[in-house]
Amino acid sequence: MDPRALRRDFPVFEAHPDLVFLDSAASAQKPRSVIEALARFYQTAYANVHRGSYPLSEAATEAFEAARATLAGFLGTPDPDEVVFVRNATEGMNLLAHALGERYLGEGDTVLVTEMEHHANLVPWQQAARRKGARIRAVPITDQGRLDLAALDRLLGEEPRIFAFTQMSNVLGTVNPVAELAERAHRAGAIVVVDGAQGAPHLPVNVRALGADFYVTSGHKMLGPTGASALWGRRELWQELPPFLTGGGMIERVTIEESTFAPPPTRFEAGTPAFAEAVGLAAAAEYLIGVGMDRVWRHDRELTRRALAALSEVPDLRVFGPQGEDRGGVVSFAFPGVHAHDLATFLGQKGVAVRSGHHCAQPLHRRLGVAATTRASFYLYNTEEEVDRLAAVLHEARRFFASWIE
Ligand code: PMP
Repeated sequence: MDPRALRRDFPVFEAHPDLVFLDSAASAQKPRSVIEALARFYQTAYANVHRGSYPLSEAATEAFEAARATLAGFLGTPDPDEVVFVRNATEGMNLLAHALGERYLGEGDTVLVTEMEHHANLVPWQQAARRKGARIRAVPITDQGRLDLAALDRLLGEEPRIFAFTQMSNVLGTVNPVAELAERAHRAGAIVVVDGAQGAPHLPVNVRALGADFYVTSGHKMLGPTGASALWGRRELWQELPPFLTGGGMIERVTIEESTFAPPPTRFEAGTPAFAEAVGLAAAAEYLIGVGMDRVWRHDRELTRRALAALSEVPDLRVFGPQGEDRGGVVSFAFPGVHAHDLATFLGQKGVAVRSGHHCAQPLHRRLGVAATTRASFYLYNTEEEVDRLAAVLHEARRFFASWIE
């Protein structure tokens, strides 16, 4: 895989030729094929879906349903109706926490999460648990930034109804052994929800092989437009769940007093869906399939290995996360005594775009003993030279902030 050739597919790098963009974990840049698919759809094929009986609307409906099939294929399921379109991973988690909470949670039940979760995979469960009188428990992490699997056994002994965990940490880069965790959770009787917001853009995913019950993705992090993401679930589980949002489009029969609901996936897509963006997301999935997810994964890991080696040479820099093969293209770091935002601003002024803050993972940062970190994240369009540039600017930052470093 040649990232220099791939870069030519991304117009943003023509507009900003010197930009070292290391913030794809927040949101990824878009290839021309995605931008063009969106523009083409709006210019030539746009009409509301599932409503009109005229050819333009029928063709738009077909394009939307074809996008669903493409996303199903990308996630490794033959059944397009297992894919529900939502706005983003956050909406996907809220849908699941609401619907699974209504269906399965009761007084005294447990929802199990982990200490490394993004707030999107924590706060919705807290709300569901509060409504139902259930409680939240979290699998702790080890000092190396991996899940503490011994503690997991003990926590699964409490027979949680739901186990929701991330495939890849957006702070530590840790890739969790999803298939093993899912199998253990199922043995304990839990429903398994996987947050694939950082997984799906970077790793080959086959939801059935992973053994998950639900898998949440974030479209804008996998080269797609904002506003459309695929949420996968097992057909038999979708069928049992009540809707989240209600109104037009998701019903079967409505009277003034009550309504019956359409079968999945329509039941979970109230109102006009982001169908143009779903078509754009399918173009993103096709682009990734064309490159090959195994190649993307290998490339991310090579850049990560290079970054970990180079950053270990920067004096005083604390680098977070495991040192093994089980991590993807996210590297968070801090100089003790230097505010994460100051470091990110310094890097930004030198043309290196990174993110700083708690990265929507406050419990994890508390566990790490820092208020905030600065994070570089890599994707298919990043090069080894960009990683070296990051390291070089961090050496400069070390000299610049020398008197602050504790
Ligand atoms: N989970 C993880 C692990 C994430 O990194 C993010 C995005 N930072 C989300 C969930 C939320 O994704 P979205 O922006 O699509 O709601």
